[in-house]
Amino acid sequence: MSTDTTKKDLLRGGQFLVKETKCEDVFTPEDFNEEQKMMRDSVQEFVEREIWPHKEEFEKKNYALTEEVMRKAGELGFLGVAVPEEYDGLGMGFVSTMLVCDYISGATGSVATAFGAHTGIGTMPITLYGNEEQKKKYVPKLATGEWFGAYCLTEPGAGSDANSGKTKAVLSEDGKYYSISGQKMWISNAGFADVFIVFTRIEDDKNITGFIVENEEGNGISFGEEEKKLGIHSSSTRQVFFNETKVPVENMLSDRGNGFKIAMNALNVGRIKLAAASLDAQRRVTDLSVKYANDRVQFNTPIAKFGAIKSKLAEMATSAYVGEAASYRAAKNIEDRINIRLEEGSSHADAELKGVEEYAIECSILKVACSEDVQNCADEGIQVFGGMGFSADTPMESAWRDARIARIYEGTNEINRMLSVGMLVKKAMKGHVDLLGPATKVADELTGIPSMDKPDYSELFAEEKEMIGKLKKVFLMVAGSAVQKFGPQLEEHQQLLLAASDILIEVYMAESGILRAEKNAKRFGADSQKEQIAMAKLYLYHAVDTVNTKAKEGIASFAEGDEQRMMLMGLKRYTKYTNLPNIVALRNTISEKLTSENKYCF
Ligand SMILES: Cc1cc2nc3c(=O)[nH]c(=O)nc-3n(C[C@H](O)[C@H](O)[C@H](O)COP(=O)(O)OP(=O)(O)OC[C@H]3O[C@@H](n4cnc5c(N)ncnc54)[C@H](O)[C@@H]3O)c2cc1C
Repeated sequence: MSTDTTKKDLLRGGQFLVKETKCEDVFTPEDFNEEQKMMRDSVQEFVEREIWPHKEEFEKKNYALTEEVMRKAGELGFLGVAVPEEYDGLGMGFVSTMLVCDYISGATGSVATAFGAHTGIGTMPITLYGNEEQKKKYVPKLATGEWFGAYCLTEPGAGSDANSGKTKAVLSEDGKYYSISGQKMWISNAGFADVFIVFTRIEDDKNITGFIVENEEGNGISFGEEEKKLGIHSSSTRQVFFNETKVPVENMLSDRGNGFKIAMNALNVGRIKLAAASLDAQRRVTDLSVKYANDRVQFNTPIAKFGAIKSKLAEMATSAYVGEAASYRAAKNIEDRINIRLEEGSSHADAELKGVEEYAIECSILKVACSEDVQNCADEGIQVFGGMGFSADTPMESAWRDARIARIYEGTNEINRMLSVGMLVKKAMKGHVDLLGPATKVADELTGIPSMDKPDYSELFAEEKEMIGKLKKVFLMVAGSAVQKFGPQLEEHQQLLLAASDILIEVYMAESGILRAEKNAKRFGADSQKEQIAMAKLYLYHAVDTVNTKAKEGIASFAEGDEQRMMLMGLKRYTKYTNLPNIVALRNTISEKLTSENKYCF
């Protein structure tokens, strides 16, 4: 996409809901350029050489092994992909940084977490908010893996309510340093970090303030024992205690009181990267399940030939395929937005911050969808392996345990669900996304007479695209009425918000799957893409069901009598297929491809 087209056509964050996206305008994994493919290959080669052979060792709480792998990743430049070249990074675009995060994360959640904590929330706050001296001093060391970073936001009393931390920073009488005291918990990489990004409160400030704190002996920093965790066994997670730790005033990150903003913006990037980090685990689990299903014989038949197993393999591959589609679609939008800002003269830091912030809704959507998909995928992987799946001797068991954390950190999925709708409503109020116009149209349509025209579904995905349009109307109908009814009090109706966000998530994911398959069908020929087309249709089918259920739940919670009846009739109309897809046939098409290739092959 040239920048000119980009400028003209690039949707704003959240606008996918009210504007049609053409398949030519989305980026898909098939669009990786040569440089990106080389990067992907070298990360894959690194994982196969340095991580996967030690899979069992990672389950034995070998924190030193994780540190060693991280150091090697640093030597190869993987820790600096997102860091500008002037600070010894590779200065790659957002899509490439997603790609590295994706492919380095699939073998074990321990490395995925260490990598994410270091490159994302451990380094990025300095790259994006640090002043020139801070960047020069810390970023090159972090980008090359000479030093490691950790991010200290959470406290025993401040988890989701991150701005409520009690860690204090007190200015010295001579005004030269702050003295930091407090307790941080659940800190990833704490066991080997050289630098901490620490969020504190100065006096009774409303908002917290960030500091860069070096891990120096004798400066009041101590650690709890390694936490005993369900998964990510070799990821170091400790409490960090600060007892009058002296930090020079020059180490304040950005301005006093800006910490909450830094923390939240770092999390936006963290969220989409976490989605990426869930993708390779899904591919790997699906891949291993396909191989196992082909090998394992019961009743004189490879279990891959049983419909029950075909169904699982098809569903697993579908969620991975759609997750990839949506993650890279959003990543490219972010990259384009960053480039536009750079061209307009913004600094790298400002362009990146604003670029990601613009798509914060999509970041939350992806975090929720991909973290839940990877868990479901691993769960079904265990089922395909039967008893062996429950055994710690196969990688399914650890994949399932490792996946669980993704629903908790980087903002729990409950918080991210509510944020996604909340941010959208805010954008509408600011006039950045016009929800009111389309919502009013839907309201009018509900009272009008439905068109009796026979639709033309001869083109590929014609009915599916119409269905996506209708699902968007469901969101506008439910969310539009809810906003009208409750106004600013909507945030108190959490279950309604959660239902609305599930609709939003399904719309984005299903549309992304369809656009990817359509783009590939157009460029490679529909015949060669029949399995991808099947996956896009299969995903949409489930999305329609989820939207239906969630919308009913939402409508019944606030509408009664005639209003409720009218909305339910609308819902029926908007979730009705003219030609119900043959789901069994779709799954068979997908699983036959997987089993004949004996791998995840999309
Ligand atoms: C392995 C691991 C690594 C971590 N790494 C780091 C790290 O490196 N740095 C760091 O700072 N933190 C880290 N965390 C902390 C993590 O970000 C928090 O655990 C997370 O934000 C949730 O906070 P909490 O655990 O206090 O749960 P709580 O906030 O107490 O939430 C408990 C439950 O209540 C729900 N809930 C909370 N508030 C609301 C609300 N307003 N409305 C509806 N539901 C709500 C939540 O969704 C959740 O289901 C890590 C955690 C773990 C487990």
